Amino acid sequence: MKKRMSTEIVNLEKEDVDKISCTCGCELFDTSFKLAVLSSLHPKNPEKEDMIVPEQVFVCRKCGEILDTDKDNIKKLKLDAMKKK
Ligand SMILES: [Zn+2]
Repeated sequence: MKKRMSTEIVNLEKEDVDKISCTCGCELFDTSFKLAVLSSLHPKNPEKEDMIVPEQVFVCRKCGEILDTDKDNIKKLKLDAMKKK
């Protein structure tokens, strides 16, 4: 497996970021995992066994909806957040 790059950003101020909230307005999310299986027969599978592939998702604490972290959706959420200011 590839090593994950560190995404830690130092010296980031509160003002540097735009808050993202759920469509219901809630700003708190829990991390959760979606699980998929990579078949042992798949050419991208280095092992010869079925592999569990976790995908981290953010779940809204209020309504339980999964936050869509698709690039386009993030852009939209950012615009919505700016409108609220
Ligand atoms: Zn929500």
